[in-house]
Amino acid sequence: MWNSGIIAEILGGRLYGSESAYFKGCVIDSRAAFEGVLFTAIRGEKTDGHLFINKAFEAGASIALAETRSLGELGLPVIPAGKAIIAVEDSLRALQDLARAWRKTLDPVVIGITGSCGKTTTKDMTAAVLAKSFKVHKNLENHNNEIGLPLTILNAPAGTEIMVLEMGMRGLGQIRALCHICSPSVAVITNIGTTHLELLGSQENIAKAKWELVAALSEGGIAVLNAEDAFSVNKAAAADVKKVFYGISGKYASPDVYAVNIHSSGTLTTCFEVVSGEDRAEVRLPLPGEHNVLDALAALSVGLAKGVSLAEGAKALEEMELSKMRLEIQQGVFGSTIINDVYNANPTSMKASLHVLAERGGAKTIAVLGEMYELGDSAVPGHRDVGRTAAKLGINTLITVGKMAEDIAQGASEAGFPVSGLHVCSECAEAASLAKSLIKEMGSDVWILIKGSRGMRMERVSGALCQEE
Ligand code: ATP
Ligand code: MG
Repeated sequence: MWNSGIIAEILGGRLYGSESAYFKGCVIDSRAAFEGVLFTAIRGEKTDGHLFINKAFEAGASIALAETRSLGELGLPVIPAGKAIIAVEDSLRALQDLARAWRKTLDPVVIGITGSCGKTTTKDMTAAVLAKSFKVHKNLENHNNEIGLPLTILNAPAGTEIMVLEMGMRGLGQIRALCHICSPSVAVITNIGTTHLELLGSQENIAKAKWELVAALSEGGIAVLNAEDAFSVNKAAAADVKKVFYGISGKYASPDVYAVNIHSSGTLTTCFEVVSGEDRAEVRLPLPGEHNVLDALAALSVGLAKGVSLAEGAKALEEMELSKMRLEIQQGVFGSTIINDVYNANPTSMKASLHVLAERGGAKTIAVLGEMYELGDSAVPGHRDVGRTAAKLGINTLITVGKMAEDIAQGASEAGFPVSGLHVCSECAEAASLAKSLIKEMGSDVWILIKGSRGMRMERVSGALCQEE
């Protein structure tokens, strides 16, 4: 549908080379380039994409988007026959403008998903629920920021009927900017927790920042909200949009779509019945924990809004593929079982994962928990709260990793965690070797949860514990 001539016109950029070079998706890394792709050269902190335009062409890129200033400094690369370079003032801005135009051209239903935790899970579940009835496109993994979101849109193939877009944020105005690119008509807010408190100052500000998604809804838009989340329900009271609440007990609002009879089946599956008015269906979710039930309810609610019945949605969830490093179950050393959840952590998700560990009826349980970053003033209470939860749930052994995580041990100890089961480590290698010897001592049926903030790289622990000796 598009070619280099059209793209140059949309961006008001200067075209060098062919005006009929093909457009088929977009990359910013020349190593990911393929036949017909548009390569956007971005100046990064570590490297400058403009140095790789030739490489991108060699790998098959047909168009390169580049900044006039860089082309002036570095010289215009040789443009192979049939290919093009489009010079613009700001290539990131151009990437975003182009995504906005591609979104308009495709004109799909856009579902925006934000929240403190569970965005990626909810995004994957929502896409799964809708994919049987529609041509769906979603972000790869965690591509949810000012670069990842436009890239996701530009890689949506012609004919896309629904885009399911995860949106991340670290401050006020960022969700609004993402919405300006993707114009959502359905907003999902998974929850409003304390992630990024450091940057935003208060939970009220976090709520405000996330609410930018609801505020940006096009006319007739729908907000899908968590009835168990106080801030969401609070914010919703004053919002003049169609609202659908989902929930379990309906702590703060009465849910329209809710789960009853939740129970786990085997180690990994959670079963429940989902109800919405007269419609109900059995769900066998291939994930443990109540937090995943909530994410599934959000996905099923979006499905209902788009005409997918609960039974169809439930079947899709049962068959869905799961992303890596989120509650992955792996074989550990000495016959143990690892719950590998090292991808990221905040107090809400850490407590949710501790619940999953505690539900391993009769097994001996070890939690290896690393520091949680970006909590600002709530770092100490946040870590202590996690420790108290570990104590309340009766986890057998707790190993903390890193300075801030010492407060997890402190919280646990205050809540009566047996001292003999509490261990404080300063780094991953130490925690891994300690965990290994404890697993050996504990004998059979040991489950180990491993979790911490991304920067803690807790995969160094899970990696060591997964190696059979
Ligand atoms: P990120 O901000 O890193 O993109 P995210 O919001 O996309 O995170 P996920 O990757 O889906 O979140 O999940 C991150 C963690 O949160 C996982 O450990 C998962 O177990 C937990 N989690 C998922 N959904 C919820 C929920 N509704 N409430 C609490 N914790 C959750
Ligand atoms: Mg995510």
